[in-house]
Amino acid sequence: MNYDVIIIGAGPGGIFSAYELVKQNPSLKVAVFEAGYPLQKRKCPIDGDKVKSCINCKSCSIMSGFGGAGAFSDGKYNITNDFGGTLYEYIGKNKALDLMHYVDEINMRYGGEGTKLYTTNGSKFKKLCMQNGLHLLDASVRHLGTDINYVVLENLYCDLKDKVDFYFDTPIESISVIDGGYEIASEKGSYTCKKCVVSVGRSGSKWMEHVCKTLDIPTKSNRVDIGVRVEIPAEIFSHLTNELYESKIVYRTEKYGDRVRTFCMNPKGAVVSENTNGIITVNGHSYEDPAKQTNNTNFALLVAKHFSEPFRDSNGYGESIARLSNMLGGGIIVQRFGDLIRGQRSTPSRIQESFTVPTLSATPGDLSLVLPKRILDGIIEMIYALDKIAPGTANDDTLLYGVEVKFYNMEVEVDERLQCRYDGLYVIGDGSGITHSLSHASASGVYVARDICENL
Ligand SMILES: Cc1cc2nc3c(=O)[nH]c(=O)nc-3n(C[C@H](O)[C@H](O)[C@H](O)COP(=O)(O)OP(=O)(O)OC[C@H]3O[C@@H](n4cnc5c(N)ncnc54)[C@H](O)[C@@H]3O)c2cc1C
Repeated sequence: MNYDVIIIGAGPGGIFSAYELVKQNPSLKVAVFEAGYPLQKRKCPIDGDKVKSCINCKSCSIMSGFGGAGAFSDGKYNITNDFGGTLYEYIGKNKALDLMHYVDEINMRYGGEGTKLYTTNGSKFKKLCMQNGLHLLDASVRHLGTDINYVVLENLYCDLKDKVDFYFDTPIESISVIDGGYEIASEKGSYTCKKCVVSVGRSGSKWMEHVCKTLDIPTKSNRVDIGVRVEIPAEIFSHLTNELYESKIVYRTEKYGDRVRTFCMNPKGAVVSENTNGIITVNGHSYEDPAKQTNNTNFALLVAKHFSEPFRDSNGYGESIARLSNMLGGGIIVQRFGDLIRGQRSTPSRIQESFTVPTLSATPGDLSLVLPKRILDGIIEMIYALDKIAPGTANDDTLLYGVEVKFYNMEVEVDERLQCRYDGLYVIGDGSGITHSLSHASASGVYVARDICENL
């Protein structure tokens, strides 16, 4: 065997697996194969000047490379079982929380010390939300910020690079079961190992599906979340963001009884576009460094859709809606809330006149031509509900960017050790469909590393 353990994917799941493996057993031979580039070579060409929108790079620097999809993220590590994945269903709630705290300690040791840990414990906003038909979910959130998150990743890489073999720009094409382990193949060559950890995230979703089909690993369809990113002047949400940083608020619509929720709140942040398998969707992030902060806060409003019978391709549904917005807007569409309510498209001049200045250069348009009525109605209802706890949310100049789609990988069937039907083949992180966040993905990495060390 070339290696004791091969990890596929250098996102948080893969990094924390590697970290824990060599910490528990420094004599292990470990390799990490990553489709994208090392951290310092990751650069999205969009500069807002020469390159204004996504040009479909071979490897998307936002989604791929050391640090995975999390590298330029806001670095919000939510320590909770209430959202961010269902890891607790496999390993138990206490174990999941313990591991998330463990990951937090490592992040603090590798450059995150001094960053703030926010909590909803005892918050007055719980009552205020309830009084207005809204529900604030429980969580502690460590906000590293995009800049400190980068420093933590740099430090982790410096520490790991001499203990682990990293192969960048090396997408793995196949995994084969061999006597006593696995063989993984890339264009550059094949390698063998006793145990294999697959941690390919959302960008690896299509490949993961292919691997599951080839190796006959059972999967279940997952949900897709569809909605918009809302951008408002930071003052409107400052009472919430100053105390909680990120508030995960859920609302049940009166019209259809659907659940709409806030997601990924970025106080004084920026709206960004991202490219998943050629489809451009919207996202957001923010910096810890005050010099890089903006005057706006952004967050997503999402509605979950899950298809099972006879159509089960929830992601395909989300993709089609995103494609429609890409077709109409050439990428991301932006619309003022006032224009949406009055049934008119936003135009460049209407956006220019807006008091809220967009942080992403997107195409002014009409989101009602893109989003299904039921989803759009739910989003509008929730904006009015949020307006009661944060007056100004439903202002005419509130900007809505579309579409935001959270694709979840299909759920791979794994046991309580996160092993699929093959002994020693672990599927973790967002690629498993079980986790959807930095903290859960990282925790799953530590968990399997410990299991491997016990069983090798
Ligand atoms: C802009 C943005 C902001 C975000 N903000 C937050 C946040 O604040 N808080 C939060 O909790 N979550 C956030 N997320 C989500 C978070 O980044 C993910 O949940 C997390 O990164 C998942 O970790 P992972 O290791 O499972 O997968 P990923 O981070 O996706 O890493 C998987 C890696 O595998 C590689 N790969 C894929 N296929 C192959 C292959 N065949 N061979 C080799 N390598 C392969 C990919 O290139 C990638 O680098 C954000 C995501 C984005 C895009």
